[in-house]
Amino acid sequence: MITYRPKKISLANTPTPLRLLGKVSEQLGGPRIWVKHDDATGSALSGNKVRKLEYVVAEAIEHNCDTLITCGGLQSNHCRATALVAAQLGLNAHLVLRGRKPAEADGNLVLDHMAGAEISYYSPAEYIQRLPEIFSKLSEDYLALGRKAWCIPTGASDEIGIWGYIDAAYELYGQLHQQSLNPRYIVCATGSGGTQAGLSLGMHSLGYSGEVVGMAVCDSEEYFLRKARKDMHGWQHRYGAEDDVASVDVDGVPIKTLANYIGPGYARTYPEMLDCIKWLARTEGIVLDPCYTGKAFYGLVEEIRSGRWSEVEDIVFVHTGGIFGLFPYRAELF
Ligand SMILES: *Cc1c(COP(=O)(O)O)cnc(C)c1O
Repeated sequence: MITYRPKKISLANTPTPLRLLGKVSEQLGGPRIWVKHDDATGSALSGNKVRKLEYVVAEAIEHNCDTLITCGGLQSNHCRATALVAAQLGLNAHLVLRGRKPAEADGNLVLDHMAGAEISYYSPAEYIQRLPEIFSKLSEDYLALGRKAWCIPTGASDEIGIWGYIDAAYELYGQLHQQSLNPRYIVCATGSGGTQAGLSLGMHSLGYSGEVVGMAVCDSEEYFLRKARKDMHGWQHRYGAEDDVASVDVDGVPIKTLANYIGPGYARTYPEMLDCIKWLARTEGIVLDPCYTGKAFYGLVEEIRSGRWSEVEDIVFVHTGGIFGLFPYRAELF
């Protein structure tokens, strides 16, 4: 058990509900599928990033920062969440977005503007090559203006942000215990790795005997193994003065990733996945997005259909949000 927690700001509506998908489970004829509704952590400020920001932004405020700088794609859920958190707390947000400024904003980008975030656009090549440099230049510019900026890494996935999903693991564990459930798998989309790392670490520390499975939306199995391990080591290094943190065998935490449902690439779709999104919406009234949760849920369904997970009794799908990212795909969906 990890009882220590660093300072956090309460931003997310938690606990989020755990609900059985009765119809979908029956139609697949396999395990019972439960949804952990982290898409319901808020309204506009919803999804998995809010849980990580509770800790990351507390740290920024602790350092007397008045500006949050972060980065992501044009449709980044993380950037949208950061922009809204900044507005709520009276801070400034500066978003470094990968891609050309679109003629018309859509989805998350509409909300970035609504929240009053400062936005800089960079070509993918420049973004990949120069991101650290862009961050330090912006920080210096703000310093020259008498302001103090805090840089949040991609997806708020670092040794601080993973606390958000350690919390989520403890919350989920309590809900499972209450209903006497011991799911064989807990499935989430994985992109910057923090959700997967926090869940894996949290569940392991509770003695969970099943597997947390990250469904990759980009990169490879090896990438997520390295990234999750790095964040866990960073976490132990940073908070290791606490006995319950120091005593976690970080290298013994299983990190499981399936990378065969990415399709043509990050944020790119394929028909079977889009059909799965529509099927879930029509069958259960649950809306997924094509970039993250659609691929993760499609992967879960395929693992059941293939027979690999058919002998299992219960599976939990962590719905990490992303609803606003659906709208830019309207033409591909219908
Ligand atoms: C960012 C995101 C993820 C991936 O979470 P990471 O912690 O970055 O791996 C999954 N789903 C949605 C909707 C997201 O926005």
